[in-house]
Amino acid sequence: MNDCLFCKIIAGEIPSTKVYEDEFVYAFRDINPQAPVHVLVVPKAHIACADEISEENSAAVAKIFEAIPKIAKAEGLTNGYRIINCCGEDGGQTVFHLHFHLLGGKKLSESF
Ligand code: AMP
Ligand code: ZN
Repeated sequence: MNDCLFCKIIAGEIPSTKVYEDEFVYAFRDINPQAPVHVLVVPKAHIACADEISEENSAAVAKIFEAIPKIAKAEGLTNGYRIINCCGEDGGQTVFHLHFHLLGGKKLSESF
């Protein structure tokens, strides 16, 4: 049984505000936005975290980075944006399905 929150969102079992979807990628608004635009971009295939990216599954990551400029354009992020990935406990990861935070819509702080 797959108990992963983001797998359930991708499957439509838990609601989300979708902003983009293709064969490999799903993107939706973060429930607790940290910027005017805060989108989570995730692979449809379950990969737990960045540390689990390998030769076997990295094509899904490439698809995410192909989708990001399209999402950024659709969200009006013409002046730039930030992409963040949290990996593991020290990285602050709370949901263990690989995701990239796409943040923008204002000048973001230079500190992390
Ligand atoms: P991270 O801390 O990098 O693992 O990010 C997990 C993100 O998922 C946080 O920014 C949460 O606000 C977000 N989040 C958690 N549950 C949901 C949900 N049901 N829908 C949308 N975003 C969520
Ligand atoms: Zn998952």
